Amino acid sequence: MTIYNFSAGPAVLPKPVLETAQSEMLDYKGSGMSVMELSHRSSWFQAIIDDAENLLRDLMKIPENYQVLFLQGGASLQFTKIPLNFAQNKKALYVNTGSWSKKAIQAAEALDNVTVEVIASSEDQNFTYIPEIPANVDQDAAYVHITTNNTIEGTAYQSIPNFGKVPVVADMSSNILANDYNVEDFGVIYAGAQKNIGPAGLTVVIIRDDLLGESDISAPMLDYTLLAKNDSLYNTPPTYAIYVAKLVFEWLQEQGGVAGITAQDQAKSKLLYDAIEASELFKSPVRADSRSLTNIPFVTGNDELDKKFNQEALAYGFENLKGHRSVGGMRASLYNAFPVEGVNELVTFMEKFEAENGGK
Ligand SMILES: *Cc1c(COP(=O)(O)O)cnc(C)c1O
Repeated sequence: MTIYNFSAGPAVLPKPVLETAQSEMLDYKGSGMSVMELSHRSSWFQAIIDDAENLLRDLMKIPENYQVLFLQGGASLQFTKIPLNFAQNKKALYVNTGSWSKKAIQAAEALDNVTVEVIASSEDQNFTYIPEIPANVDQDAAYVHITTNNTIEGTAYQSIPNFGKVPVVADMSSNILANDYNVEDFGVIYAGAQKNIGPAGLTVVIIRDDLLGESDISAPMLDYTLLAKNDSLYNTPPTYAIYVAKLVFEWLQEQGGVAGITAQDQAKSKLLYDAIEASELFKSPVRADSRSLTNIPFVTGNDELDKKFNQEALAYGFENLKGHRSVGGMRASLYNAFPVEGVNELVTFMEKFEAENGGK
């Protein structure tokens, strides 16, 4: 039985990447050691982290005046670090588009000396769309925080709104490297690696230089300036996760870079969205103009049928297709490494299920 992993994260990795990791597992390039055993201060590891950074800069066309950091703590720790580093005694703007945005807002609100203003929200309709951004946002705000892709709800910005001169801070955890974004549209980009980059444990943070102030955060590990000054090696970074990320970046280059993989992602998601549109049984809970390329929820509208579908899907070899508990139904996460064959099989499976369960 072929297993297809539809997980929202940790998610499927490219098979050639896993094969390379396997072949290099016991002896990394003649070092006689596994990557896991290399000192993070060794020239072996320095070459790995340098390659990872250069590959990511190349893939995303990251300009020289941005720092690329390989950190830990997940996207969730950045929820606190971002207001701590950029908005003390200032106002920070947030757009509330889902569960992860909400957590980012709550983390900022928990800091005494940060003023949080939510400038737009789609909570009124269970986060099933991307809200309009008001025309005149406060131009003195430290930043405006957006979640480019809402992993749980399956919505995504189709373009980055214009916020004037306010730096845009983007949680890109679930669609980094799946969209041809212009890095210069952002002040900060951050992403937990376990969706579209590599294994869990690594968090990529990209920061425009002028946003990094003096080191004046009392907790060193929360201070982006200090972490940047030490080139992500203030403490032991997640070395093996950085190595696998490097292999993923190499694989992405072979796919034609971000433009190449985005074209593949568009083709994959179209297969599934077209099948949902054509179906009388399955529906997308997301407004048509707000749909995500990478996380695609769908429902029958009947909890019992959803449950039956999920049971049969699991038996067929579709792992982690069950929707998030806050949305229900099903959710297919079609990240970069998810193979198109799996989408074709899912569509065939859905048609068969519909025919057997009173649909057309
Ligand atoms: C998964 C996810 C998070 C949480 O990431 P952690 O690395 O587990 O902290 C935050 N934001 C978005 C958009 C996500 O998809």
